[in-house]
Amino acid sequence: MTIKTRFAPSPTGHLHVGNIRTALHNWMFAKKNGGDFLLRLDDTDSVRSKEVYVDAIRADLAWLGLAPDEEERQSNRFERYGARFAELKLAGRVYPAYETAQELDLKRKIQLGRGKPPIYDRAALELTEEQITAFETEGRTPHWRFKLDHETPIEWTDLIRGDQHFDAALLSDPVIRREDGSWLYMLPSTIDDIDMAITHVVRGEDHVANTAVQIQMFHAFGADTPQFAHEALLVGTEGKLSKRLGSLGVSAFRDKFIEPQSIVALLARIGTSDPVEPILDVAALIDTFDFSRFGRAPARFDDEELAQLNQKVVHLLGYADVRDRLPDNMAAAAWDVIRPNLHHMGEVPQWLQVVTGPIVAASILTEDQEFVAQAQTLLETLDWSEGIWKSWTGALKEATGRKGKSLFMPLRQALTGLDHGPDMSALLPLIGRESALERLSQATA
Ligand code: GLU
Repeated sequence: MTIKTRFAPSPTGHLHVGNIRTALHNWMFAKKNGGDFLLRLDDTDSVRSKEVYVDAIRADLAWLGLAPDEEERQSNRFERYGARFAELKLAGRVYPAYETAQELDLKRKIQLGRGKPPIYDRAALELTEEQITAFETEGRTPHWRFKLDHETPIEWTDLIRGDQHFDAALLSDPVIRREDGSWLYMLPSTIDDIDMAITHVVRGEDHVANTAVQIQMFHAFGADTPQFAHEALLVGTEGKLSKRLGSLGVSAFRDKFIEPQSIVALLARIGTSDPVEPILDVAALIDTFDFSRFGRAPARFDDEELAQLNQKVVHLLGYADVRDRLPDNMAAAAWDVIRPNLHHMGEVPQWLQVVTGPIVAASILTEDQEFVAQAQTLLETLDWSEGIWKSWTGALKEATGRKGKSLFMPLRQALTGLDHGPDMSALLPLIGRESALERLSQATA
C-alpha cells in the first residue's frame, strides 16, 4: 500500500504559517514513507475561491521545497459528488431539511437557554408529505443533512491524540449541501479521501469533531477509514491563537529574508520533543519525523526564534547555495568572508560594499592618526600576498609596540569604516592593495 497524504487548502486566501506547517508535516510523512503528497484545492466555494490564491499556494509550496506529487481540484469533481450523494440518498443517509437560517438560529438559542447543547433536533425527519409540499409551494428548496448513526460509537486511534471516542448522538447531523446545490466541506472531502486513496489525514485539531462525522461518512460508503493525526494548533508567543499568525505567510517571511530552510527546520520541530536545529538537509529532518514525538500542547511560534535559526542557517549556506541570489560581482571568497557577519541575506549588499567600496570613512581617534599614517607607509613597502595582514600587522607591532585592540582596531576602522566585521586577514586580500592604500590615506586625510 502506497502511503498518501494530502494538503487541502481552500484557495480563498494566502497560506499562513499554521497551514504551511500542516503542509510540511503531510509532505514529510509521505516522503519518509516513500509515499505521495497530494495538493487538493478545496475550491467548492466559487465566490471566495480565486485563481490568484491557487497560483500563490503553488508558488509558496514550491519556494518551501514541498513539491506535490499530484494535484486535484474539487471544482472539477462536482459530478462525482452528485453521484455519491445520490447513493447516500438511496441508502437513507441524507435527508432534506427546510429550516431557514433564522429558524435554526432560534432553535439553537432556545436550546442554549434551557441549558441544552445546541444539537440539531432532526425535525426535518418528522415532516409529513403535506408539510413538504407546503414548503415547496412556498418556494423553499431544501438543504441536505447527513444522518449520523446514533447507535454506533465513533472511535479511532489518533496518531497524535491517542484513543478518541465520540457519541454520535451528541453531534448535529451536518449540513452537507446547500439549497442551491453547492457543497459544504464535509462530504466532498470524504469522497476525495476515498477516491484518491488517502492513507493518512494530517490536520489541525480544530478538525477533530469533523473527523468523527467523516468516519461515519467513510463507513456509509463502505470504505475503510484512513489513519488520522490531529496536531495541536500553532500559537504565537502571546500564547493564544493570534490574528497575526493568521496573516503571516511566505511573503512576509521573504520580506524579512527568512530562508525557506529556516521555516522548514522550525516548523518541522516546534511542538515536538525534538530540538529546533539549523538543519539544511531536509532528508535529516524527514528521518526524525514521527507523530509519536508530537505533544498535545499548542506549538509556539516565535519570530525571534525563527530569526535566530535563520541566522544559523545562513551561516551554513555554501556559495553554490546562494550564488544566484548574490550580486554579479560577488565571488566565493567574498561570500566566505562576509557570511559569518550576516544576520540574514538582506545584509549581503552592505557587507559586500565593505569589500568593494566605497566605504564611509570612520573618524580615526587623534591618538591613532599617526599610527594609521605609519601603517600606510609600511604597507606600501610590503610584498602583497595572501598573508599580507599577518606580515603587515607583525611588522607594525614590532615598529610601534602596539598590540591587541590598539593595534588592530584603528586598521579595521580605517579599512572598513566600521569597528566590527569580517576577519581582517581574509578581508584585506579581497580589498586589494590599491584600495587598501587609498582607504588608509582617506582615513587620515
Ligand atoms: N479545506 C479544509 C481546511 O482548510 C481541509 C481540511 C482537511 O484537511 O480535511 O480546513
